[in-house]
Amino acid sequence: LLARQELRESSARTYPRHLPIALAEGSGSFVRDVDGNVFIDFLAGAGVLSLGHNHPEVVASVTRQLGLLAHGLDFPTPAKDAFTEAQLSMLPPELREKMKIHFCGPTGANAVEAAVKLCKTATGRGDVVSFQGGFHGSTHAAMALSGLVSAKRNVPNTMPGVHFFPYNRAEPLEQALTDSLGGIPPPAAVLLELVQGEGGVVPAGPEFVRRVRELTRDLGVPLVVDEVQTGCGRTGTWFAFEQYGIEPDVVVASKALSGIGMPVAVILYDAALDTWEAGAHIGTFRGNQLAFAAGVEAIRVIRRDDVLGNVRRRGEQIAGRLAPLTGRPGVREVRGRGLMWGVELADPVTGRPATEAASAAQAHALRHGLIVELGGRDDCVVRILPPLNVTAEVVDTACSILVDAITARAA
Ligand code: PMP
Repeated sequence: LLARQELRESSARTYPRHLPIALAEGSGSFVRDVDGNVFIDFLAGAGVLSLGHNHPEVVASVTRQLGLLAHGLDFPTPAKDAFTEAQLSMLPPELREKMKIHFCGPTGANAVEAAVKLCKTATGRGDVVSFQGGFHGSTHAAMALSGLVSAKRNVPNTMPGVHFFPYNRAEPLEQALTDSLGGIPPPAAVLLELVQGEGGVVPAGPEFVRRVRELTRDLGVPLVVDEVQTGCGRTGTWFAFEQYGIEPDVVVASKALSGIGMPVAVILYDAALDTWEAGAHIGTFRGNQLAFAAGVEAIRVIRRDDVLGNVRRRGEQIAGRLAPLTGRPGVREVRGRGLMWGVELADPVTGRPATEAASAAQAHALRHGLIVELGGRDDCVVRILPPLNVTAEVVDTACSILVDAITARAA
Protein backbone atom coordinates (compact mmCIF):
# COMPACT_ATOMS: atom_id res chain seq x y z
CA LEU A 1 0.00 0.00 0.00
CA LEU A 2 2.79 2.38 0.94
CA ALA A 3 4.81 1.64 -2.19
CA ARG A 4 1.76 2.06 -4.43
CA GLN A 5 0.94 5.40 -2.85
CA GLU A 6 4.57 6.46 -3.27
CA LEU A 7 4.17 6.25 -7.05
CA ARG A 8 0.94 8.19 -7.25
CA GLU A 9 1.11 10.90 -4.65
CA SER A 10 3.16 14.07 -4.95
CA SER A 11 6.49 14.19 -3.17
CA ALA A 12 5.16 16.74 -0.67
CA ARG A 13 4.00 14.17 1.90
CA THR A 14 5.78 14.42 5.23
CA TYR A 15 4.77 11.99 7.99
CA PRO A 16 5.22 8.66 6.11
CA ARG A 17 8.82 9.57 5.29
CA HIS A 18 9.74 9.07 8.93
CA LEU A 19 6.85 6.87 10.00
CA PRO A 20 6.56 4.30 7.20
CA ILE A 21 3.15 2.87 8.07
CA ALA A 22 -0.27 2.82 6.42
CA LEU A 23 -3.09 3.46 8.89
CA ALA A 24 -6.15 1.24 8.98
CA GLU A 25 -8.13 2.09 12.13
CA GLY A 26 -7.88 3.88 15.43
CA SER A 27 -9.43 3.65 18.88
CA GLY A 28 -8.68 6.06 21.73
CA SER A 29 -4.92 6.45 22.12
CA PHE A 30 -4.17 3.53 19.78
CA VAL A 31 -3.93 3.12 16.06
CA ARG A 32 -3.60 -0.04 13.98
CA ASP A 33 -1.74 -0.21 10.68
CA VAL A 34 -2.81 -2.24 7.63
CA ASP A 35 -0.45 -5.03 8.67
CA GLY A 36 -2.19 -5.40 12.04
CA ASN A 37 0.49 -3.71 14.18
CA VAL A 38 -0.91 -1.61 17.04
CA PHE A 39 0.80 1.62 18.14
CA ILE A 40 0.30 4.10 20.94
CA ASP A 41 -0.49 7.23 18.95
CA PHE A 42 1.29 10.19 20.55
CA LEU A 43 1.15 12.11 17.29
CA ALA A 44 -2.67 12.04 17.58
CA GLY A 45 -3.30 13.67 14.21
CA ALA A 46 -0.71 16.38 14.96
CA GLY A 47 -2.55 17.34 18.13
CA VAL A 48 -6.01 17.15 16.56
CA LEU A 49 -7.40 14.09 18.36
CA SER A 50 -7.88 15.54 21.84
CA LEU A 51 -10.31 12.76 22.73
CA GLY A 52 -8.35 10.16 20.78
CA HIS A 53 -9.54 8.23 17.76
CA ASN A 54 -13.27 7.68 17.35
CA HIS A 55 -14.51 8.74 20.77
CA PRO A 56 -17.85 6.84 20.88
CA GLU A 57 -20.03 9.68 22.18
CA VAL A 58 -18.59 12.15 19.70
CA VAL A 59 -18.98 9.63 16.87
CA ALA A 60 -22.64 9.18 17.87
CA SER A 61 -23.18 12.92 17.79
CA VAL A 62 -21.52 13.25 14.37
CA THR A 63 -23.58 10.35 13.04
CA ARG A 64 -26.79 11.97 14.27
CA GLN A 65 -25.84 15.27 12.65
CA LEU A 66 -24.98 13.52 9.37
CA GLY A 67 -28.58 12.37 9.19
CA LEU A 68 -29.78 15.97 9.63
CA LEU A 69 -27.44 18.32 7.79
CA ALA A 70 -23.77 17.91 6.88
CA HIS A 71 -22.88 21.20 5.24
CA GLY A 72 -24.42 24.58 5.83
CA LEU A 73 -22.23 27.23 4.12
CA ASP A 74 -22.47 30.19 6.48
CA PHE A 75 -26.19 30.00 7.20
CA PRO A 76 -27.21 29.92 10.83
CA THR A 77 -28.01 26.41 12.00
CA PRO A 78 -28.79 24.88 15.40
CA ALA A 79 -25.48 22.97 15.31
CA LYS A 80 -23.50 26.12 14.57
CA ASP A 81 -25.35 28.06 17.23
CA ALA A 82 -24.62 25.37 19.81
CA PHE A 83 -20.96 25.28 18.75
CA THR A 84 -20.65 29.06 19.07
CA GLU A 85 -22.23 29.01 22.53
CA ALA A 86 -19.98 26.16 23.61
CA GLN A 87 -16.82 27.86 22.34
CA LEU A 88 -17.63 31.22 23.92
CA SER A 89 -18.49 29.47 27.19
CA MET A 90 -14.92 28.15 27.37
CA LEU A 91 -13.46 31.68 27.36
CA PRO A 92 -12.62 33.45 30.62
CA PRO A 93 -15.69 35.45 31.78
CA GLU A 94 -14.09 38.84 30.94
CA LEU A 95 -13.70 37.80 27.29
CA ARG A 96 -16.95 35.89 26.89
CA GLU A 97 -18.97 39.07 26.52
CA LYS A 98 -16.66 41.03 24.27
CA MET A 99 -15.51 38.43 21.77
CA LYS A 100 -17.01 37.45 18.45
CA ILE A 101 -16.40 34.29 16.46
CA HIS A 102 -15.59 34.06 12.77
CA PHE A 103 -15.72 30.72 10.99
CA CYS A 104 -12.80 30.23 8.66
CA GLY A 105 -11.97 27.59 6.10
CA PRO A 106 -11.23 24.22 7.61
CA THR A 107 -7.54 24.65 8.45
CA GLY A 108 -5.46 26.48 11.02
CA ALA A 109 -3.64 28.30 8.24
CA ASN A 110 -6.89 29.73 6.92
CA ALA A 111 -7.73 31.07 10.38
CA VAL A 112 -4.26 32.66 10.67
CA GLU A 113 -4.90 34.36 7.33
CA ALA A 114 -8.27 35.59 8.59
CA ALA A 115 -6.73 36.96 11.79
CA VAL A 116 -4.10 38.91 9.88
CA LYS A 117 -6.59 40.22 7.34
CA LEU A 118 -8.93 41.33 10.13
CA CYS A 119 -6.13 43.21 11.91
CA LYS A 120 -4.99 44.86 8.67
CA THR A 121 -8.56 45.93 7.94
CA ALA A 122 -9.16 47.23 11.46
CA THR A 123 -5.89 49.15 11.79
CA GLY A 124 -5.33 50.22 8.19
CA ARG A 125 -1.70 49.12 8.60
CA GLY A 126 0.18 46.65 6.48
CA ASP A 127 3.09 45.14 8.39
CA VAL A 128 2.99 42.21 10.79
CA VAL A 129 5.35 41.21 13.59
CA SER A 130 6.06 37.53 14.06
CA PHE A 131 8.62 35.53 16.04
CA GLN A 132 11.61 33.43 15.13
CA GLY A 133 10.88 29.72 15.44
CA GLY A 134 7.12 30.19 15.01
CA PHE A 135 4.92 28.16 12.70
CA HIS A 136 1.57 29.35 11.42
CA GLY A 137 0.70 27.18 8.41
CA SER A 138 1.45 26.43 4.77
CA THR A 139 -0.72 28.88 2.87
CA HIS A 140 1.23 31.74 1.36
CA ALA A 141 0.81 34.37 4.06
CA ALA A 142 0.85 31.87 6.96
CA MET A 143 4.09 30.46 5.57
CA ALA A 144 5.55 33.93 5.19
CA LEU A 145 4.65 34.59 8.82
CA SER A 146 6.41 31.42 9.97
CA GLY A 147 9.97 31.57 11.20
CA LEU A 148 10.79 28.06 10.04
CA VAL A 149 12.97 28.66 7.01
CA SER A 150 12.66 25.08 5.75
CA ALA A 151 8.98 25.70 4.99
CA LYS A 152 9.62 28.62 2.67
CA ARG A 153 13.14 28.50 1.27
CA ASN A 154 12.00 27.20 -2.14
CA VAL A 155 9.26 29.76 -2.59
CA PRO A 156 10.55 33.04 -4.02
CA ASN A 157 9.05 36.38 -2.99
CA THR A 158 7.15 35.47 0.15
CA MET A 159 4.76 38.08 1.49
CA PRO A 160 6.56 41.35 2.27
CA GLY A 161 6.09 43.36 5.44
CA VAL A 162 6.75 40.58 7.95
CA HIS A 163 9.20 41.48 10.72
CA PHE A 164 10.72 38.66 12.75
CA PHE A 165 11.88 39.15 16.31
CA PRO A 166 13.58 36.80 18.76
CA TYR A 167 11.16 34.64 20.75
CA ASN A 168 11.32 35.04 24.51
CA ARG A 169 13.26 38.34 24.42
CA ALA A 170 11.07 41.42 24.48
CA GLU A 171 13.81 44.09 24.27
CA PRO A 172 14.51 43.91 20.51
CA LEU A 173 10.80 44.22 19.74
CA GLU A 174 10.39 47.00 22.25
CA GLN A 175 13.29 48.88 20.77
CA ALA A 176 12.03 48.48 17.20
CA LEU A 177 8.55 49.68 18.09
CA THR A 178 9.31 52.50 20.51
CA ASP A 179 12.69 53.94 19.51
CA SER A 180 12.45 56.62 16.79
CA LEU A 181 15.49 54.96 15.21
CA GLY A 182 13.96 51.49 15.72
CA GLY A 183 13.17 50.88 12.12
CA ILE A 184 9.64 49.57 11.83
CA PRO A 185 6.32 51.38 11.59
CA PRO A 186 3.49 50.35 13.93
CA PRO A 187 2.31 46.96 12.69
CA ALA A 188 -1.20 45.71 12.03
CA ALA A 189 -0.66 42.83 14.45
CA VAL A 190 1.79 40.91 16.59
CA LEU A 191 1.37 37.16 16.05
CA LEU A 192 2.47 34.90 18.89
CA GLU A 193 2.48 31.22 19.83
CA LEU A 194 2.45 30.72 23.61
CA VAL A 195 4.22 27.40 23.23
CA GLN A 196 5.97 27.06 19.90
CA GLY A 197 4.93 23.61 18.76
CA GLU A 198 6.54 22.91 15.38
CA GLY A 199 9.40 25.12 16.57
CA GLY A 200 10.31 22.39 19.08
CA VAL A 201 7.96 22.77 22.09
CA VAL A 202 9.31 26.06 23.37
CA PRO A 203 7.07 27.70 26.00
CA ALA A 204 6.99 31.48 26.07
CA GLY A 205 8.34 33.00 29.29
CA PRO A 206 5.73 34.80 31.43
CA GLU A 207 7.73 38.03 31.56
CA PHE A 208 8.17 38.06 27.76
CA VAL A 209 4.45 37.58 27.20
CA ARG A 210 3.51 40.21 29.78
CA ARG A 211 5.84 42.72 28.12
CA VAL A 212 4.59 41.97 24.61
CA ARG A 213 1.02 42.44 25.82
CA GLU A 214 1.88 45.75 27.51
CA LEU A 215 3.73 47.05 24.49
CA THR A 216 1.04 46.11 22.00
CA ARG A 217 -1.69 47.55 24.21
CA ASP A 218 0.21 50.83 24.68
CA LEU A 219 0.77 51.15 20.94
CA GLY A 220 -2.73 50.06 19.89
CA VAL A 221 -1.46 46.97 18.10
CA PRO A 222 -3.76 43.91 18.18
CA LEU A 223 -2.12 40.88 19.78
CA VAL A 224 -3.02 37.68 17.96
CA VAL A 225 -2.31 34.43 19.80
CA ASP A 226 -2.04 31.42 17.53
CA GLU A 227 -3.57 28.68 19.69
CA VAL A 228 -4.03 26.25 16.82
CA GLN A 229 -1.81 23.75 18.63
CA THR A 230 -1.90 24.98 22.25
CA GLY A 231 -5.66 25.54 22.32
CA CYS A 232 -8.61 23.36 23.34
CA GLY A 233 -6.97 22.09 26.51
CA ARG A 234 -3.58 20.98 25.24
CA THR A 235 -1.59 22.89 27.88
CA GLY A 236 -3.94 22.23 30.81
CA THR A 237 -6.23 25.25 30.47
CA TRP A 238 -8.68 25.67 27.59
CA PHE A 239 -6.38 28.25 26.05
CA ALA A 240 -2.73 28.70 26.96
CA PHE A 241 -3.10 32.50 27.26
CA GLU A 242 -5.11 31.97 30.46
CA GLN A 243 -1.93 30.80 32.21
CA TYR A 244 -0.19 34.07 31.37
CA GLY A 245 -2.87 36.32 32.82
CA ILE A 246 -3.26 38.25 29.56
CA GLU A 247 -6.19 39.10 27.33
CA PRO A 248 -5.37 38.73 23.64
CA ASP A 249 -7.29 40.65 20.98
CA VAL A 250 -7.56 37.69 18.63
CA VAL A 251 -7.33 33.95 19.31
CA VAL A 252 -6.75 31.53 16.44
CA ALA A 253 -8.04 27.99 17.01
CA SER A 254 -8.44 24.92 14.87
CA LYS A 255 -6.87 21.46 15.30
CA ALA A 256 -8.69 20.03 18.35
CA LEU A 257 -11.89 22.10 18.16
CA SER A 258 -13.93 19.05 17.19
CA GLY A 259 -12.08 16.62 19.47
CA ILE A 260 -11.95 13.80 16.93
CA GLY A 261 -10.63 15.30 13.71
CA MET A 262 -13.58 16.90 11.92
CA PRO A 263 -11.98 19.92 10.22
CA VAL A 264 -12.94 23.33 11.57
CA ALA A 265 -11.10 26.60 12.25
CA VAL A 266 -12.16 29.84 13.88
CA ILE A 267 -10.92 33.14 15.15
CA LEU A 268 -12.30 34.56 18.37
CA TYR A 269 -11.77 38.30 18.46
CA ASP A 270 -12.54 41.49 20.27
CA ALA A 271 -15.79 42.81 18.81
CA ALA A 272 -14.13 46.26 18.55
CA LEU A 273 -12.04 44.87 15.68
CA ASP A 274 -15.11 43.82 13.71
CA THR A 275 -14.65 46.18 10.78
CA TRP A 276 -15.32 43.56 8.16
CA GLU A 277 -17.70 44.01 5.30
CA ALA A 278 -19.89 41.16 4.12
CA GLY A 279 -17.79 38.63 2.24
CA ALA A 280 -14.47 39.86 3.64
CA HIS A 281 -13.30 36.39 4.58
CA ILE A 282 -15.42 33.66 3.08
CA GLY A 283 -14.89 30.10 1.88
CA THR A 284 -17.08 27.17 0.90
CA PHE A 285 -16.15 24.95 3.81
CA ARG A 286 -16.95 27.28 6.68
CA GLY A 287 -20.11 25.41 7.59
CA ASN A 288 -19.01 21.91 8.57
CA GLN A 289 -21.98 20.85 10.67
CA LEU A 290 -20.32 17.55 11.56
CA ALA A 291 -17.44 19.45 13.14
CA PHE A 292 -19.88 21.69 15.00
CA ALA A 293 -21.81 18.70 16.41
CA ALA A 294 -18.53 16.99 17.32
CA GLY A 295 -17.15 20.14 18.98
CA VAL A 296 -20.22 20.59 21.18
CA GLU A 297 -20.13 16.95 22.29
CA ALA A 298 -16.35 17.10 22.81
CA ILE A 299 -16.74 20.04 25.19
CA ARG A 300 -19.50 18.19 27.08
CA VAL A 301 -17.21 15.17 27.51
CA ILE A 302 -14.20 17.31 28.41
CA ARG A 303 -16.17 19.03 31.17
CA ARG A 304 -17.86 15.90 32.45
CA ASP A 305 -14.67 13.82 32.56
CA ASP A 306 -12.45 16.65 33.86
CA VAL A 307 -10.18 16.16 30.87
CA LEU A 308 -8.29 19.38 31.64
CA GLY A 309 -7.47 17.97 35.08
CA ASN A 310 -6.24 14.84 33.34
CA VAL A 311 -4.00 16.96 31.09
CA ARG A 312 -2.38 18.52 34.16
CA ARG A 313 -1.97 15.20 35.99
CA ARG A 314 -0.65 13.31 32.98
CA GLY A 315 1.61 16.28 32.23
CA GLU A 316 3.15 16.00 35.68
CA GLN A 317 3.51 12.28 35.18
CA ILE A 318 5.36 12.84 31.90
CA ALA A 319 7.57 15.51 33.50
CA GLY A 320 8.54 12.99 36.18
CA ARG A 321 9.11 10.15 33.73
CA LEU A 322 11.24 12.23 31.36
CA ALA A 323 13.21 13.97 34.13
CA PRO A 324 15.99 11.32 34.16
CA LEU A 325 16.82 12.29 30.56
CA THR A 326 17.87 15.77 31.68
CA GLY A 327 21.62 16.05 31.84
CA ARG A 328 22.24 12.87 29.84
CA PRO A 329 24.88 13.27 27.13
CA GLY A 330 23.13 14.15 23.90
CA VAL A 331 20.04 15.61 25.61
CA ARG A 332 20.01 19.39 25.58
CA GLU A 333 16.67 19.97 27.23
CA VAL A 334 13.35 18.40 28.19
CA ARG A 335 10.48 20.90 27.87
CA GLY A 336 6.73 20.90 28.01
CA ARG A 337 3.38 22.16 29.24
CA GLY A 338 0.35 19.99 29.86
CA LEU A 339 0.37 17.29 27.18
CA MET A 340 2.84 18.93 24.83
CA TRP A 341 6.41 17.71 25.44
CA GLY A 342 9.69 17.74 23.60
CA VAL A 343 13.17 16.37 24.15
CA GLU A 344 15.82 18.36 22.33
CA LEU A 345 18.84 16.34 21.22
CA ALA A 346 22.26 17.85 20.54
CA ASP A 347 25.61 16.44 19.55
CA PRO A 348 27.49 16.14 22.88
CA VAL A 349 30.75 17.33 21.30
CA THR A 350 29.75 20.06 18.87
CA GLY A 351 26.44 21.04 20.50
CA ARG A 352 24.83 21.06 17.05
CA PRO A 353 21.25 19.86 16.54
CA ALA A 354 21.29 16.04 16.57
CA THR A 355 18.91 15.52 13.68
CA GLU A 356 19.97 11.95 12.96
CA ALA A 357 19.75 10.91 16.61
CA ALA A 358 16.22 12.33 16.83
CA SER A 359 15.19 10.52 13.69
CA ALA A 360 16.76 7.28 14.98
CA ALA A 361 14.93 7.68 18.32
CA GLN A 362 11.66 8.18 16.44
CA ALA A 363 12.26 5.02 14.40
CA HIS A 364 13.26 3.11 17.55
CA ALA A 365 10.04 4.20 19.29
CA LEU A 366 7.96 3.16 16.27
CA ARG A 367 9.54 -0.32 16.27
CA HIS A 368 8.55 -0.60 19.93
CA GLY A 369 4.97 0.50 19.35
CA LEU A 370 4.96 4.27 19.90
CA ILE A 371 4.34 7.00 17.33
CA VAL A 372 6.11 10.29 18.12
CA GLU A 373 6.77 13.44 16.11
CA LEU A 374 9.87 15.53 15.39
CA GLY A 375 10.20 19.31 15.31
CA GLY A 376 12.41 22.23 16.21
CA ARG A 377 15.71 23.30 14.72
CA ASP A 378 16.63 20.82 11.99
CA ASP A 379 14.11 18.40 13.49
CA CYS A 380 16.27 17.69 16.54
CA VAL A 381 13.38 17.68 19.02
CA VAL A 382 11.43 14.47 19.68
CA ARG A 383 7.88 15.59 20.44
CA ILE A 384 4.71 14.07 21.84
CA LEU A 385 1.12 15.29 21.62
CA PRO A 386 -0.93 12.57 23.34
CA PRO A 387 -4.73 12.56 23.32
CA LEU A 388 -5.88 14.67 26.28
CA ASN A 389 -7.87 11.80 27.80
CA VAL A 390 -4.90 9.42 27.71
CA THR A 391 -4.70 7.09 30.75
CA ALA A 392 -1.90 6.91 33.30
CA GLU A 393 -1.11 3.36 32.14
CA VAL A 394 -0.68 4.36 28.51
CA VAL A 395 1.48 7.33 29.51
CA ASP A 396 3.60 5.00 31.60
CA THR A 397 4.15 2.53 28.77
CA ALA A 398 4.80 5.30 26.24
CA CYS A 399 7.31 7.06 28.49
CA SER A 400 9.23 3.82 29.00
CA ILE A 401 9.48 3.36 25.22
CA LEU A 402 10.42 7.01 24.68
CA VAL A 403 13.10 7.06 27.39
CA ASP A 404 14.57 3.80 26.04
CA ALA A 405 14.53 5.15 22.47
CA ILE A 406 16.30 8.35 23.45
CA THR A 407 18.76 6.62 25.75
CA ALA A 408 19.63 4.19 22.97
CA ARG A 409 19.91 6.78 20.21
CA ALA A 410 21.12 10.05 21.71
CA ALA A 411 24.88 10.59 21.89
N1 PMP B 1 -0.50 27.37 13.71
C1 PMP B 1 0.09 26.47 14.52
C2 PMP B 1 0.61 26.93 15.84
C3 PMP B 1 0.24 25.14 14.13
O1 PMP B 1 0.85 24.27 14.93
C4 PMP B 1 -0.29 24.75 12.87
C5 PMP B 1 -0.20 23.31 12.39
N2 PMP B 1 0.81 22.54 12.89
C6 PMP B 1 -0.91 25.71 12.08
C7 PMP B 1 -1.00 27.01 12.53
C8 PMP B 1 -1.47 25.37 10.74
O2 PMP B 1 -2.61 24.58 10.85
P1 PMP B 1 -3.10 23.74 9.59
O3 PMP B 1 -2.07 22.68 9.35
O4 PMP B 1 -4.42 23.16 10.01
O5 PMP B 1 -3.22 24.68 8.46
